Amino acid sequence: MARSYLHEARRRGLGRRRDRIGPIIERLAAEHEDAEIALRFRSDLELLVSVMLSAQTTDTNVNRVTPALFEKYRRPEDYLAVPQEELERDIYATGFFRQKAKAIRGSMRVLLEEFSGEVPRRLQDLLRLPGVARKTANVVAAELGHAQGIVVDTHVRRLSQRLGLTRREDPVKIERDLQRIVPRADWARFPHLLIWHGRRVCDARAPRCEICVLEDLCPSSRLVGDAVRSSAASGRARAVAPSSRR
Ligand code: SF4
Repeated sequence: MARSYLHEARRRGLGRRRDRIGPIIERLAAEHEDAEIALRFRSDLELLVSVMLSAQTTDTNVNRVTPALFEKYRRPEDYLAVPQEELERDIYATGFFRQKAKAIRGSMRVLLEEFSGEVPRRLQDLLRLPGVARKTANVVAAELGHAQGIVVDTHVRRLSQRLGLTRREDPVKIERDLQRIVPRADWARFPHLLIWHGRRVCDARAPRCEICVLEDLCPSSRLVGDAVRSSAASGRARAVAPSSRR
């Protein structure tokens, strides 16, 4: 589908990605003035731990757990001063608590051994922390004011494809495509704009193209509606099929 969005953009004469990106950012920024990270944190360390906890769960869920967690664990040493099982219990509600507790403790060890207990700014340093993959490192670096890449999560991927900014499926390749067209000064806020637009308007299953400020810049404004309708119709057909056989 991502390929046909690009084809549709050419067919409808919507202009090159490079020419559309400016107005896209401008309109989204006006529409979602409040677009920012939803995780709550007060320090670099709390930011790092929050982002690590947010894997496979919602930011709201993380925000429910972190106030008590950050009262108890204030320095990297604190995470290593308790048995792993205790940390697992403290983060249980965020899911995948065993892997997360192991990753957090491993990261705290590296912070103490290699970075004097401070959260590093450079992407390649952040990537040395156990359990910190490119998306987490990009989020942390951007929030620290040192964006060195563009965060690609499920919303960024879906919207970038629908807007015809990439035809790729792989997040690293999508990021590379976006880095070529998004001005560097916007690398930190661009993902927030897409994430908030994805949550509020360009829903995965029911995009609200009729109220979307990007309608005239988006090659999917018609295609997505057709795709959603046809997938809903095939879903109905599947749902009907078993009983019609009886
Ligand atoms: S026009 Fe529709 S598909 Fe395109 S960004 Fe807006 S809601 Fe999403």
